Amino acid sequence: MSTTKYIFVTGGVTSSLGKGIISASLAKLLQARGFSVTIQKLDPYINVDPGTLNPYEHGECYVTIDGAETDLDLGHYERFLSIPTTQANNVTTGRIYQTVINKERRGDYLGKTVQVIPHITDEIKRGIKLLGKKHKFDVVITEIGGTVGDIESLPYIEAVRQLKWELGVLNTLVIHLTLVPYLSASAELKTKPTQHSVKVLLENGIQPNILVLRTEHDLNTEIRKKVALFCNVELDSVVQSIDVSTIYEVPLNMLKEKLDVTVMKKMGLADSGKLGLDSWKKFISKLKNPKASVKIVLVGKYVELPDAYKSINESFIHAGASNECSVKLDFVHSEELTAENYNNRLKGYKGILVAPGFGDRGIEGKILAARYARENNIPFLGICLGLQCAIIEFARNVLKFENAHSTEMESKTPYPVIDLMEEQKGIIEKGGTMRLGGYPCVLKKNTLASKAYQARKILERHRHRYEFNSYYLRDFENAGMIASGINPETELVEIMELTDHKWFVGVQFHPEYSSTVIKPHPLFVDFVKATIT
Ligand code: GLN
Repeated sequence: MSTTKYIFVTGGVTSSLGKGIISASLAKLLQARGFSVTIQKLDPYINVDPGTLNPYEHGECYVTIDGAETDLDLGHYERFLSIPTTQANNVTTGRIYQTVINKERRGDYLGKTVQVIPHITDEIKRGIKLLGKKHKFDVVITEIGGTVGDIESLPYIEAVRQLKWELGVLNTLVIHLTLVPYLSASAELKTKPTQHSVKVLLENGIQPNILVLRTEHDLNTEIRKKVALFCNVELDSVVQSIDVSTIYEVPLNMLKEKLDVTVMKKMGLADSGKLGLDSWKKFISKLKNPKASVKIVLVGKYVELPDAYKSINESFIHAGASNECSVKLDFVHSEELTAENYNNRLKGYKGILVAPGFGDRGIEGKILAARYARENNIPFLGICLGLQCAIIEFARNVLKFENAHSTEMESKTPYPVIDLMEEQKGIIEKGGTMRLGGYPCVLKKNTLASKAYQARKILERHRHRYEFNSYYLRDFENAGMIASGINPETELVEIMELTDHKWFVGVQFHPEYSSTVIKPHPLFVDFVKATIT
């Protein structure tokens, strides 16, 4: 029998209670106590992965080092734990069904009727146990997406029920996250939704072991006792998760509530007595006591939904704390920027970031933002499409390549400075077909990039189809925009920067995916630094 411990985190009452943050916080505490931990997300939707989803649906698509397009919660897992996740950390209903149907077509089921139970649930269980088996983690935390009672989540909940029996009480644990609403009219906290939500779990054969209650107000012992009594859990297994100003404080709150100690006790995990949270606490203290403050603007087209730029947002929080500076990030919709208003709209910002994106909506606004940063010596970071916009802008306005463009937006441009890679040209399918995941990049000495990284070779994550067209490289370099990072295997240009500028860097990859609390991303750190000085 496996010695890996499996913890399941379910949610009830409403969505968006922060299961991902609770999972990541518990993982952080267990990691700080010396255990090797990973977190996995099970998503109940039928898309095979979120790669084809519009960011308005579920927010940003997060990319792992092995090239999986995954749920944004994996970003939280990495930011909290500083260990990489992989495809195995995100399972969707679509992927489960795809695997089962492929097996059925191959004849693996030997003529049997293929059913939700046992075939789908077996595949879910395989996906859960894979992480424990293959990577030998002490603890695997599995977050079940959705809310209990949803039709879509049922097979996952059933798989958890089965695993509890198969692996035994010491090896499995269910944490259920619910909401305790506050009725201001009667000044009361209400536990009934929690009781009902636990009943739904019980109907599905699962008695949760620990309840984490999201609340705006402190829960007194009276309320905790009531929840414990009605929901069949011990008093120390009723944990409050009170609203905090930053998600990075949640692990410290969970520590106060002894969530880690309760989990260790219930699962027979030996307490080593150590708790390595010093650098985390140092980060919180820097975050809360900034010595300076800067306003940076993000120009993008999904600005109505901040989750669409989740990792960028968090990277600024990490880089801000590391510079002891509070970064106030404003969002400007690229469609709203015009030749007439861009000077006014962008005035006063100490830094400009042009965001990643697809398609031509709002593209001219992004190009104007890059122009404003270049002409006014404002620190600039262009990410993926952001780099491509800076290149197009430089081609049009410095090199005087009239109507230069990316062939993604304008297939007949006379100057295709951004073009499709050869190997992308025949691809029609949209899902999982981009340049995805980690690729190496060699940095040119004495450049902004190499100063930031303090390294010669780096590995960064990609998610795009188009590339800088190296045919024009000499023109760019002669005019002052140089390639400071090159892929050593393919010679593709990965980083470009201006030589005659305070700080102007564009990257074809996504540095935001690998910034963590303990290791803020060097490009964000130096970008923020450039905005302060
Ligand atoms: N649309 C561009 C491409 O496919 C950039 C993608 C991105 O910003 N992630 O190359």
